[in-house]
Amino acid sequence: MRFGLTENQREFRDEVREFTKTEIEPKARDLDRKEEYPSTIFDELGERRLTGVTLPEEYGGRGEGLVELALMIEELSAGLMSVASAIGLHIGVATVVERFGTKAQREDFLPEMVSFDTVGALGLSEANAGCNKLEMETTAERNEDEWVLNGHKQWVTNFFDADYVLTYAKTGPEEDAPHNISAFLVPTDDFEIETVWETLGANSVKSPRVSLSNVRVPDDRLVGEEGEGYVQRGEIHTGVNVPARGIGIARAALEDTVAYTSARKQYGQHISNFQGVGWEVGKMAERVDTARLLTLRAADRAERGYDVTREFSMAKINATQAAVDNANDAIQLHGGIGYTTEHHVERYLRDAKLLTIAGGPNEGHKNTLAEAIFERHDN
Ligand SMILES: Cc1cc2nc3c(=O)[nH]c(=O)nc-3n(C[C@H](O)[C@H](O)[C@H](O)COP(=O)(O)OP(=O)(O)OC[C@H]3O[C@@H](n4cnc5c(N)ncnc54)[C@H](O)[C@@H]3O)c2cc1C
Repeated sequence: MRFGLTENQREFRDEVREFTKTEIEPKARDLDRKEEYPSTIFDELGERRLTGVTLPEEYGGRGEGLVELALMIEELSAGLMSVASAIGLHIGVATVVERFGTKAQREDFLPEMVSFDTVGALGLSEANAGCNKLEMETTAERNEDEWVLNGHKQWVTNFFDADYVLTYAKTGPEEDAPHNISAFLVPTDDFEIETVWETLGANSVKSPRVSLSNVRVPDDRLVGEEGEGYVQRGEIHTGVNVPARGIGIARAALEDTVAYTSARKQYGQHISNFQGVGWEVGKMAERVDTARLLTLRAADRAERGYDVTREFSMAKINATQAAVDNANDAIQLHGGIGYTTEHHVERYLRDAKLLTIAGGPNEGHKNTLAEAIFERHDN
């Protein structure tokens, strides 16, 4: 058993790390404070086709796997979580098109999605469909060769820059659940904007509530089988982007803390010399390593076709909590200045908190993990 990355994976990670260091990190605090959309960063990621990292080369993608997706998202999130979030969700939408779309849909959408000239956002959650998405109320009714959509979607990340929202809607009766939900590519222009929230963090990419009123969608915008949209979604594992975002924040918090405590002096010595500080920093490093091992294991096993219910839940719960804990400890170890916007650490905590909620609250993943463990004890 080897725990190292391959040479290609290391080179790939270093490419994204370098990009983050030079293009994201220096701008991150300003983008967050001014709630400014990171458009030039997305343009550059598109030019590098990192926005299509896992998409096949025949559409211009990089043809990488889920491990590389997790590596890339960790790096981007270490710079600015909301950049990683928009890209992770976009790649998730493109993957649904690639895996379940028709040949025509793949040819129409994927080349432009690879370069981020066509941007996808995810419309799954609703006001009453949070932890339990099966309670969604949006409907799509067939009318000859069209569908008529009514309802709303809540928290559509990157809606304002997106071209299409992959919109999940009920197309069958409740007794058929979960085989009663279908996915549609709906242009963002067809939605009405209802609420743009002010949020604790993730400030530079907004996630508004939007609604659909008798919106007509042609049949060729149905992605995947009718009634199987929600179930098919469970077969793609681009959700590893959520724990990967957690690792990025946890690692950035650790690195900033090592640098700060190694430079800051009290009682005539660097505060990193205090045993109490060393133990805290050691704990932070342990969290990063645990989160990364769990997340890369989930990504690798998903890539190789195994059921990763258990592995994914563990990764999601662990890595997102690691982000919150490390960010919190980083502020403590920076002292008063850590509580200001002079450093990144206060943003890390605000951004990290989203991750224990979004992508499904950790409590739901704890339930899934428990179910997986009681169903099979094969480790
Ligand atoms: C900034 C932001 C961006 C988002 N982006 C997107 C996006 O792009 N696309 C999208 O579709 N969705 C998105 N979401 C939605 C996100 O996935 C949901 O917020 C999340 O699934 C939780 O749903 P909810 O907020 O309705 O919480 P609820 O389901 O109402 O849960 C509230 C709380 O109750 C507790 N809880 C719930 N169920 C259980 C349980 N079974 N056991 C124990 N405790 C429980 C948990 O503490 C949970 O946090 C985003 C959310 C935010 C805040």
